[in-house]
Amino acid sequence: KWGQLRQRLLKTVGQNNYTTWIEPLEFEHLEDGVATFSVPTNFMGNYVSQNFADLILYELNTAGAKVQRVSFQVAANTSKRPSPRVVSSKADESVEQATTTPLDALQAAPLDARFTFDSFVVGKPNELAHAAARRVSEGGPVTFNPLVLYGGVGLGKTHLMHAIAWELRARKPDLNVLYLSAEQFMYRFVQALRERKMMDFKVLFRSVDVLMVDDVQFIAGKDSTQEEFFHTFNALVDQNKQIIISADRAPGEIKDLEERVKSRLQCGLVVDLHPTDYELRLGILQTKVQQYRGSYPGLEIADGVLEFLAQRISTNVRVLEGALTRLFAFASLVGREIDMELTQDCLADVLRASERKITVEEIQRRVSEYYNIRLSDMIGPKRLRSYARPRQVAMYLAKQLTSRSLPEIGRRFGGRDHTTVMHGVKRIEELKLIDGQIAEDVEMLRRALEA
Ligand code: ADP
Ligand code: MG
Repeated sequence: KWGQLRQRLLKTVGQNNYTTWIEPLEFEHLEDGVATFSVPTNFMGNYVSQNFADLILYELNTAGAKVQRVSFQVAANTSKRPSPRVVSSKADESVEQATTTPLDALQAAPLDARFTFDSFVVGKPNELAHAAARRVSEGGPVTFNPLVLYGGVGLGKTHLMHAIAWELRARKPDLNVLYLSAEQFMYRFVQALRERKMMDFKVLFRSVDVLMVDDVQFIAGKDSTQEEFFHTFNALVDQNKQIIISADRAPGEIKDLEERVKSRLQCGLVVDLHPTDYELRLGILQTKVQQYRGSYPGLEIADGVLEFLAQRISTNVRVLEGALTRLFAFASLVGREIDMELTQDCLADVLRASERKITVEEIQRRVSEYYNIRLSDMIGPKRLRSYARPRQVAMYLAKQLTSRSLPEIGRRFGGRDHTTVMHGVKRIEELKLIDGQIAEDVEMLRRALEA
């Protein structure tokens, strides 16, 4: 198998690269989705890993092998073959996700017809991102480049990008607007390498007027893809072509993204989509209901249901939409009005999953209020009984009501050790059995926190 693959690699990388870098590779084994090759030197391992790992991985998978990553090891002495030392697997580790996506996602990045500005509900958390998106969608002179939209999952990044693309197509049909995910960018790049069409690739990407790359965090750690992205980016900015990028966090916080790429991304306008607030969620629900009315005529929604959903399902809009879709489908099936009872029945699992999470900070605040001490004294170093006891109660509740580990809790109590937290938790458990007052305090606090 490796023999055939080598032939394909030879075609792709050319004779020189092949002789220098690919030929000396020895296939070692394939285990748990990791294909291991041995290389003669450390330097070679690094070089191959940075420059050819994506390609080798791609070829392996195209040939039908189920490989998630490739790893290169130095065989210290090739004749005896002692246990090889791992040189670098960082670059290829991160290609992992890529291999699980079907390759046919490669060519087109179709725009979702529902993702327009008309259907995008604007509120405080997203008004800046929306305004910036509107501005670039006018297709006027480039004022900020790139535009970077970032924010958590389901907050509307892809929706806004598609909306920009639709709007540009309508307003400026002559502009060459290219929208694709960072993942598709990588696949096109690797395919170009493989088919020896790098020139075509470069020409294609340098001829667009507006380039939109969604979920750019995907290329973090994929060195050769990042490199190509960087060059594409620079070439377009030099020509004053608009670039629009989205990411799941601020560019500066994307791990394994090269510094130079980070700093390029930060050069333009970086705006974030904040988690939704109640008003925005309610607005989105009301808009969606209007849309659904078309498909489910005659369906009624009782007062308070949308408010309830907006209250209870926080942050992720996708989940909110899913809940509403389910509700409509369910109600029309059973022929009932959408009231609170139906909502509770139909969405029990969603509602449970999005139950309010209690934080350690909240516990500390409540407990210090309850015992009438200052928050700083609860967290601080003082050992007086009047502080130490409430502190232990708070630690106990933190352990009971949050999913934080002992070290994590300790850190939130002024950097205390996890053994201190464990001791505190134990102490309260003992006291609850013998001291009625403590037992009652803990119970009261728990109820207040869970309300
Ligand atoms: P992201 O790309 O940030 O993960 P999406 O853009 O895919 O999120 O949004 C998830 C879903 O939520 C989509 O169906 C989208 O239409 C919807 N959505 C998100 N924000 C809004 C909004 N402000 N108004 C209307 N729909 C929204
Ligand atoms: Mg998205």
